[in-house]
Parts: sequence; structure tokens; C-alpha cells
Amino acid sequence: MPLLQCGNWILEGKSSSAVATYIRIKELDLIFDLGRCPMKFIGTNHVFISHFHLDHYFGLPIYISQRWLAGMPPGNIYVPSSGFKQLQHILNQLSELDAGKSWNYHITPVETGEEIPFRRNLIAHILPGNHSVPAVSYLICEVRNKLKEEYINLSGKEIVELKKSGIQITNEIQLPLVAYLGDTRGISSDTHPLLHKCKLLICECTFLTPEHRERAKKTKHFHLEMLPTFLEQFESEYIVLNHFSRRYTPDLIREVVYNQLPTSEHSRVSLFI
Ligand SMILES: [Zn+2]
Ligand SMILES: [Zn+2]
Repeated sequence: MPLLQCGNWILEGKSSSAVATYIRIKELDLIFDLGRCPMKFIGTNHVFISHFHLDHYFGLPIYISQRWLAGMPPGNIYVPSSGFKQLQHILNQLSELDAGKSWNYHITPVETGEEIPFRRNLIAHILPGNHSVPAVSYLICEVRNKLKEEYINLSGKEIVELKKSGIQITNEIQLPLVAYLGDTRGISSDTHPLLHKCKLLICECTFLTPEHRERAKKTKHFHLEMLPTFLEQFESEYIVLNHFSRRYTPDLIREVVYNQLPTSEHSRVSLFI
């Protein structure tokens, strides 16, 4: 299973177009898409599904049933609202067939514009998708409390006094950590004011070569030729490209991607292959 280190985070999983995409960041206790479900992902508590193509959600029954069998509380699964009812129906049929009764599971339908708090200090912003079926993207931010400007020069003792008196001395700020775009024809960085500052951007790059330009357009996938201009919008420290077509070998992917990118981009772009 590929592992990719991005600062303090390790990306684990797999991503190959039409086969399966599942990426875990254990340090954030989350998984983006679940095209298959390796056993070691079962204990991860948050799953964000981008859209209902099989290669992105086919691992859900395993994730749900294995937790149920192990007596664990259900994981928190987030899916685009457009397919929520059908998914429920499928899962209920599967659990009836498998166990003769319903698995215990917890799925939250999400829509663009929503903000979903999870864990103690994280928020998932639901951003629009841009694909051949209804889809969403996710921007994960960390919430922190920052001392207000006017109190910055106070001593620790004075701050404690103010706190005791019930005065609100901090502002809540959000730090954009990871953006996951799912399958996409691209997204404007204006979609959310924090998007262009995300520390890690995970972006698909299904098609690479000129002869697949039209196919990329038709199937609403990203093409490598769009990448240099696209990346100019982002200040991200780490860019991870995933979901390459099976037509290309790993060697060809490396060669073509880094040839297309300006050398100034090489150090921050990694390939999840
Ligand atoms: Zn896909
Ligand atoms: Zn897709």
C-alpha cells in the first residue's frame, strides 16, 4: 500500500482511476473516499465520500459491517446528499442479506456550503464538486482560539484575571489543513476564502497525454495540461496528485508529470501511485 509523507501526516491507501481510491490520514483520524476498505482502516472514525462512483465508495459495506461485528460504535460517514437515500437502501439490503438484520451505521448527507464540525477541533467545509455525477470536495480546517489583538501585551496574570471576569479574550480562527477534491474537472480557489492556503492539496490528475484531452473533458476529469495554471492559485506546501488512469505506467506518470511542470513546482508536488 503506498505511503506518502507530507510533513507530520502520512497518506496511506491507493488511488487508481476506475479501480479504487481510498486515502487515510491517520493523524487526522479520517479517510477520503473508500473504494475498498483495508482492514487497518476499520478503526478510523471519519470517512468523507466525494461521489457515488463505485471506485470511491465500494468499501463502505466492509467498513460498516466490520465495525458492527467488532462491537465498535459506528464510524461517521459523510456522503453527498444526492445519493444518500439510495445508499441507505443498498446498505439495508446488504445487511439483511449478510446478517438477517440491520447493521448499525451513521451516515450524514452533506451539501455544498455546509460546515461539519468533527473531532474536538476540526471542521469539514463542504465545497462544490465538478464531475460527471453529483459530487462534493472537502476542505478540512483546524479551529484554534487566538488571543485578541488588544490583549497581546498583557501578562499571564492579567489574562487569567480577564478570563475569570468572563470577558471573551480570544477569537476563533481556522487554519486550512487539507483539501480533497475527489474526481474533478477543477475547482476555483475562490470557492472558499481559505482554500488557496490549505497546507495539503489532494487533486486528481486522471489524464496525462494529448490524445486523452477530449476524454478528460467528456468524463469531467483533470488533465495534466491544466495543472501548471491551476497550481498557481494555491500556496499549499504539499500537492499530491492521485487517480491516474491505468493506461499509464508509474514510470510514464513520473516522467510526463515532472516534464510538464515548471521546475519551481517540483519540490512540492508528489504522486500517489
Ligand atoms: Zn474515480
Ligand atoms: Zn468519478
